[in-house]
Amino acid sequence: MASVHGCIGAVDPVRTFGNAEQKQRLLPDLATGKKLSGFALTEPAAGSDLTALRTTAELVGDHYVVNGEKLFITNVTPGRTIGLVCLIENKPAVLVVELPAAENENFQLRKYGLYALKHTHNQGIIFRDFHVPAENLLVPKKGNGLTIAYHGLNLGRVSLCANAAGTMRIMMANLLPWGHFRKTYGAAIADRELVKRRLGRLAGLIVACDALVAWCSQLIDEGYRGEMECIVAKIFGSEAQKEAAIELFMKTHGGRSFLHGHLFGDNVHEYLAPCIYEGEGEMLAMAFFKSLVKHHGTTYFEPIGKLLAQAGIRKPNPLNPSHLWALKGAMAPYGLWLSKQYITPTPSPKLPAMPNSLRQHAEYAADELQRSALAISAVMRRHQLKLADRQCRMSELSGRIQKLVIMLCTSLYAARQESEFVQNAGDIVCRDLKRELVGNRPSDRYYRAVTRLGESALDGGFDSISDVPAEEILMSYADK
Ligand SMILES: Cc1cc2nc3c(=O)[nH]c(=O)nc-3n(C[C@H](O)[C@H](O)[C@H](O)COP(=O)(O)OP(=O)(O)OC[C@H]3O[C@@H](n4cnc5c(N)ncnc54)[C@H](O)[C@@H]3O)c2cc1C
Repeated sequence: MASVHGCIGAVDPVRTFGNAEQKQRLLPDLATGKKLSGFALTEPAAGSDLTALRTTAELVGDHYVVNGEKLFITNVTPGRTIGLVCLIENKPAVLVVELPAAENENFQLRKYGLYALKHTHNQGIIFRDFHVPAENLLVPKKGNGLTIAYHGLNLGRVSLCANAAGTMRIMMANLLPWGHFRKTYGAAIADRELVKRRLGRLAGLIVACDALVAWCSQLIDEGYRGEMECIVAKIFGSEAQKEAAIELFMKTHGGRSFLHGHLFGDNVHEYLAPCIYEGEGEMLAMAFFKSLVKHHGTTYFEPIGKLLAQAGIRKPNPLNPSHLWALKGAMAPYGLWLSKQYITPTPSPKLPAMPNSLRQHAEYAADELQRSALAISAVMRRHQLKLADRQCRMSELSGRIQKLVIMLCTSLYAARQESEFVQNAGDIVCRDLKRELVGNRPSDRYYRAVTRLGESALDGGFDSISDVPAEEILMSYADK
């Protein structure tokens, strides 16, 4: 609720894009929480595809007349405030809407059963000739209403990752007493390798989320937009939470996971929904990739495309002299870039003092990130204008780059922490990421390290979960 209110809700749009009068009028009640808020972007016909927005606002005298329907809006009840994305003269815009204290013929809520976010009033909103004062329009200096939406979403996406780190800590705090309690074949399951491995992996996921949160929030505090970084945090945070819930938490709690009153059974939808809200992960991965290649594409490939179109060449052949002649003006800059990539040695990153294992991860990630320029460029060369349709390749390549970014960020973050446990957890998640990248099987050394980390968690080594309360063990029984 607080994340939606403060990040994607009305707080960030007004604070960042409001004029002095709007801030004066709207922020105090939003700041005290007297007015809670949400952000209404999604519509029945427009979720992933925001070009399909249909809600309109037409200026009539001193107010806008709003018509349309919103879906899946969190934190919405009568009397609250929303940032409403609508089309004004066919362009996305944001109106700050103070909802009436009760539904009426112009404003209705569409209620439905929703398994996720059950505690935060997620509803549809229907507007029919609904009036909003003209002074509630937010006017960004650059861009349009979607610029405002994305700004809030960047904050929301870091916050989602922070929430995942917190939720996984709750899972860890509940796994430890259960692991000690539950005995099978004469020993506590906490003594078993498989369970220790799960705890070690969980610690690694938590530390990587912490690292991404620290990195993204620092960037945002320093005034960067952080759009791509926050996408990495959002995708990793939601996927980590999903894996932790299903692969680590549910499996270790066995059948009890599905009892009413068990954290997993009661919250499974909460654990999964972050993969979808604030942008579904794979759609975001493609958006990340498109941002990544945009500069390279406009600098080197667009001029080539223009010359090809002018010369009427559909498929350029590098062995055909007339094709080379037609492209001479545009090929040279790209050729120069390419040869520079091959000739210039990749500079070694200047890393701070770090434990050796973490340094190796940071060096590997920095090196591979620099190498990936050639890999990305090769994919662009191969698919050219059809690249936008090669979604599987974009998603795969995007995933690889993201893993390298997470390795670099986590190794640097873990190295700064005093706790040896956190440093080891950072090492484990980096090893996991590297294995995913190179496709190796886990070594015995890795298994020893990850189970040692799990053991250390069982012995109380993970300080930051020491005051997280654990739930009562369900269907408890006395030892014989
Ligand atoms: C619990 C919850 C809370 C939410 N809170 C809010 C809120 O407060 N405010 C708000 O505005 N919205 C909110 N949403 C909406 C959420 O942001 C959207 O559900 C999300 O952006 C995905 O849109 P959609 O559900 O319409 O998916 P769709 O657009 O129906 O897409 C479904 C899937 O199809 C695939 N797909 C779609 N297009 C393509 C394509 N071009 N290429 C390849 N694959 C594609 C993707 O896998 C995609 O995830 C919430 C949703 C949930 C579940």
